[in-house]
Amino acid sequence: MFWADDIVDQIEERFHKEIKEGTPLIVRDEKTLSGRVHVGSLRGIILHGLLSQILTERKIKNTNMFELNDNDPMDGMPTYIDEKEYGQHMGKPLFAIPGLNEGDENFTTGFGEELQEAVNPMGLPIEWYHLRPLYEAGKFNETITQALENAEAIRNIYLEVSGGQKADDWFPLNVICPTCGKIGTTKVTGWDSKEVTFECKKNYVKWAEGCGHQGTMSPFDGTATLPWKVEWAAKWKVIGVNIEAAGKDHYAAGGSREVAARISEEVFGYPEPFGFLYEWLNIKGRSMSSSGGIGISAKEMADLLPPKILKFLMIRKEQNQPIDFDPGGRTIPNLFDEYDRCADHYFNRHPESYEGYARAYALAQVDMTKEPEDLWEMRFQALSFVVQMPHLDLEEEAAKLKDSALSDNEKSALHERAEYVQKWIETLAPEDFKFVIQDTTPSDLELSDKQKEALTTLGEKLGDLKEWTGETVHDKIHRTKEECNIPPKEIFQPIYQIFLDRTSGPQVGWFLSTMKQEDVAGKLQNIR
Ligand SMILES: [Zn+2]
Repeated sequence: MFWADDIVDQIEERFHKEIKEGTPLIVRDEKTLSGRVHVGSLRGIILHGLLSQILTERKIKNTNMFELNDNDPMDGMPTYIDEKEYGQHMGKPLFAIPGLNEGDENFTTGFGEELQEAVNPMGLPIEWYHLRPLYEAGKFNETITQALENAEAIRNIYLEVSGGQKADDWFPLNVICPTCGKIGTTKVTGWDSKEVTFECKKNYVKWAEGCGHQGTMSPFDGTATLPWKVEWAAKWKVIGVNIEAAGKDHYAAGGSREVAARISEEVFGYPEPFGFLYEWLNIKGRSMSSSGGIGISAKEMADLLPPKILKFLMIRKEQNQPIDFDPGGRTIPNLFDEYDRCADHYFNRHPESYEGYARAYALAQVDMTKEPEDLWEMRFQALSFVVQMPHLDLEEEAAKLKDSALSDNEKSALHERAEYVQKWIETLAPEDFKFVIQDTTPSDLELSDKQKEALTTLGEKLGDLKEWTGETVHDKIHRTKEECNIPPKEIFQPIYQIFLDRTSGPQVGWFLSTMKQEDVAGKLQNIR
């Protein structure tokens, strides 16, 4: 069984009562918009979207809510942000910091829009929401009261689960300082069931400086926020979350998930949502959690791959397996090949079709409302060759490879794929994917007498060919190889060297057939 179907079975088991009653299940995930959203965040977004997709497929009512967190304090400065201009805002909540572009509502606007641009083309069911308005509307008031009333219990949970010792006068709340507007610098020192007393401390945190203001204020309706592990639990209750997974860092023993789960159940009286841990996406072997600073953004990743292939990348492996991605290596060609293989399984072109592969292909489709159409697609390697050959017409070569004319949908699939392949060749592809047809035979080519004999014989045979196709050329090469009794490598390798100045390349019969018959035959006959 496909791993996500197995997880949805578990969800059905736990929430059978809600499902029977027709109560919609709430799936949730979030990202703090303190900078460009990192590619690592895509895994969680896509996994939650996938669960929602499968629930809907099973006719189970659900909403997948994704929080664009605009309420956290700015506690770090991304390298691409002007520190002179934005340094003064450190410690303020993100929604209160000016945007980077004209017309932006606040600092988070551009990052949120960029993330949505990266994610929306995948067609996942997602309801985007911002956190700030929920605080302003008083949705967190009840949990704020509960947290303040149970400050000691929360301190004990931190201590028991993670060993983190909080001072006896620590309250689980941060107010927005009415004088300097910062939230990271305030310490709540008392609570009289209506108002809190607080101090905006100069050296409370390393990354921001408070103004020294002391006072009392109401902590409700958006004037204060809960610290994040308490807030995580509060969100479950406020939003009514049923299902929420998290990256493996949160699931470590004594980690934030365990703290939040206990606060949720013991302080807020709300059951921990159904959840599981998912592994990271590793870019070029480096581990990248969503908070990691290096590497590429979600949008840059989305620009590299067609939406269905990006979705496929994120769902084909079980959630607890890391995904390794090397944008400048063979990962992308292999990914397209694997997608095509899974399509073969789905359309029963494979002698022993495997249900898991077929399911991965089906779920990766962007439009889940209709059955996937069985389209002929050009393989990545062939396509990467054709797009680099100025003398070749893409549709013509495709029709030759398919052995019949392409349908309109096949043509648009071909051009879509070609666009991504072309971009990859121009920007990231390793040398062994770059091809230039050679006008002259490389001067350093050294051939044995046997090789020369085989190649000139091949040249003659190719010159006589009545039909010039990949298959007929391929056939002649194999016959020559047998007649001349020469090992495959000794005839294939010089062909690549002669025509591409490389020792390997695309399928040899096919690539020779993309050139003029008399040119190929002539060049081989005159080899010396
Ligand atoms: Zn202050």
